Amino acid sequence: MRRILKITAIFLLTALLLPMLFSCGARRFEEYSFEYFDTLTAVTGYESSEASFKENCAAVMAILEEYHKLYDIYQTYDGVVNLATLNSHAGKGALKVDEKIIDLLSYAKDMYTLTGGKTNIALGSVLSIWHDCREAGLDKPESARLPSREELKLAAAHTDIDSIVINTDTSTVEITDKAVQIDVGAIGKGYAVEMAARELERRGATGYIINVGGNVRAVGEKGEGEPFIAGIENPDSEDYIETVKLKNAALVTSGSYQRYYTVEGVNYHHIIDPETLMPKNEFKSVSVIAEHSGMADALSTALFVMDIEEGRALVESISGVEALWLTANGEIIKSGAFSDYT
Ligand code: AMP
Ligand code: MG
Repeated sequence: MRRILKITAIFLLTALLLPMLFSCGARRFEEYSFEYFDTLTAVTGYESSEASFKENCAAVMAILEEYHKLYDIYQTYDGVVNLATLNSHAGKGALKVDEKIIDLLSYAKDMYTLTGGKTNIALGSVLSIWHDCREAGLDKPESARLPSREELKLAAAHTDIDSIVINTDTSTVEITDKAVQIDVGAIGKGYAVEMAARELERRGATGYIINVGGNVRAVGEKGEGEPFIAGIENPDSEDYIETVKLKNAALVTSGSYQRYYTVEGVNYHHIIDPETLMPKNEFKSVSVIAEHSGMADALSTALFVMDIEEGRALVESISGVEALWLTANGEIIKSGAFSDYT
């Protein structure tokens, strides 16, 4: 069972720093939920009436609920063919799935290409070994163990992204290797937040910020040319290492402090380098700004397992993307135009 993640301080920042009113008369409203993606969702909106906010917010929550169920790899739901269903169908032929699954998997394949395979949703078999060791280690810290090299290597032989075959004409997906498993932990939440943000845009909303466990996406601006402000957590204290101005953009952070367990006094976190099959320890966190929250999510995970030079080159090659790295020794490194957002 997944654990409830710690509530990020970003919520407090958005709650405390945003003024109660802005000049054109719109009021600030906020709603929370703990139902989706095992974390806290906060929707903040500037609206002329509470009724409009409630309507928009209900639409956001409905989308998050739907995607949460579809993208769940741990649990099935009555009447829903989701990623858990698809994983259990590996090696058994094509399965008809919801278009929203097709869209996510197609996007994830694009992100695989963009990140040179660093964010790989076909790593499920490797990631589930780490997941199980972590869960067992958190339940019984005294007997916490690391995965063995052998089991990791055996699983790593079944992580080929091409084993996930998407047929958009028939709306089916086939996992051609029965040992390949999909894990969208690196991208699903960001993608779902993007879809919720687009629904708000479709509804004409202009002053909203959606925050799902620190995966932040601004729709429009706070008001009158004023951006929303989101904070990047300092894992070692209560303050922020940086605040970022967001207008129609997303901020997503991957951090070694977000989910980990301890074996013989050493912490092992949840972001796995596909080459070493181990957590990479160069950074404490990597934060990405991008227009598309799914891209920000995919890139934050990829940059976490890339060397700084490789990561920098990737970020500089994609227009509209900026990143901030907090290194293991506490140094802050920013991409070229990151400061445009601070
Ligand atoms: P994030 O917090 O977005 O960096 O995502 C971390 C989650 O993504 C982990 O809990 C795993 O479920 C999954 N994950 C870890 N490493 C990778 C990787 N290299 N590629 C794809 N997914 C990963
Ligand atoms: Mg990610």
